[in-house]
Amino acid sequence: MRVATVIGNRPQFVKAAAVSGPLRARHEEILVHTGQHYDEEMSAVFFSELGLPEPDHDLGVNGTGNSEQTAAMLAALAPVLADATPDVVLVYGDTNSTLAGGLAAAQAGIPVAHVEAGMRSFDRRMPEELNRVLTDHLATLLLCPSAVAANNLEHEGISAAVETIGDVMVDVARLLAAAVHERAAVLERLGVTSGEFLLATAHRAGTVDDPARLAALVDLLAGLDETIVLPLHPRTRERLRRSGLEARLGDRVLVCDPLGYLDFSALLHHARAVLTDSGGVQKEAYLAGVPCVTLRDTTEWVETVQYGWNVLVDLDLAAARTALAGSPPAERPDVYGDGHAGERVVAALERYFG
Ligand code: UDP
Repeated sequence: MRVATVIGNRPQFVKAAAVSGPLRARHEEILVHTGQHYDEEMSAVFFSELGLPEPDHDLGVNGTGNSEQTAAMLAALAPVLADATPDVVLVYGDTNSTLAGGLAAAQAGIPVAHVEAGMRSFDRRMPEELNRVLTDHLATLLLCPSAVAANNLEHEGISAAVETIGDVMVDVARLLAAAVHERAAVLERLGVTSGEFLLATAHRAGTVDDPARLAALVDLLAGLDETIVLPLHPRTRERLRRSGLEARLGDRVLVCDPLGYLDFSALLHHARAVLTDSGGVQKEAYLAGVPCVTLRDTTEWVETVQYGWNVLVDLDLAAARTALAGSPPAERPDVYGDGHAGERVVAALERYFG
């Protein structure tokens, strides 16, 4: 079987790392990097840390608005897929690279397999929600991380070729949990102590593109009385610089560049709690048993809220304070799989396209 994998941004490098190993053990993989994330901090470090093979094609598409970026990816993908003639195109998650990979394949008559199918925030203002819904409706094989995700697809009338396989990020998180827990250098470098700081991330358009919401984010972080480590996503860094709001974060917020997977996970394991608008980070906090405060009013990872490990506060400082004052629940069921989702992706691909 020949599989063309289309990836392009940070969380997709983590997801693809769980599948690429078992896939390449028996099949041919052609790795296509769209270029959506392209520098050392947002791309290369993940390839080296997670053992992801060098891309066979780097399309170099980045830095424009959603429509232009997706269109440029489609144009660049068409000849690559025509030349590679894969049996299936494999896409992950909910980014412009996901939609472009899925649509370019469907237009070329190549079947599409979507990993992380069925996730929904039910908020169509999010570009990610549009990408998820459209990719699921293009896909031939839909691989869901949870029963809730499979149920969402059924409600949309998609029931053929849906499998619940667990979450591929769990594979990576479990494999590296012990190593990242021991990784103390990043805490020393930042001058923070295990259990005595908060870890924050924010990058979604809905959080940082609107100046009023960006100001609310800054005021929320500055208004908490604890040390906060804030590795800045390039989009957020640029918005803060343009608005001149960075100084308002104050001394308790330790701003740093985006971190590699290992350093970021080390901080996550040792944080007292996490504040984030990221999908992956909500789930990784749950897996690590670290309470999460989500800076949105919806989530796709509903189980984290259901089991009391995650509270949705949007950008409300008082709600964040209340959430951070709570104590974590005793129970943390394994709702996202057993750490073998990557092997199940390969097995499903073999059944449908092998
Ligand atoms: N991550 C990282 N370094 C950082 C911030 C996040 O390695 O400085 C990782 C994080 O552990 C998770 C992934 O990036 O695996 C999440 O990516 P992101 O928040 O950009 O995207 P989302 O999950 O919201 O789609």
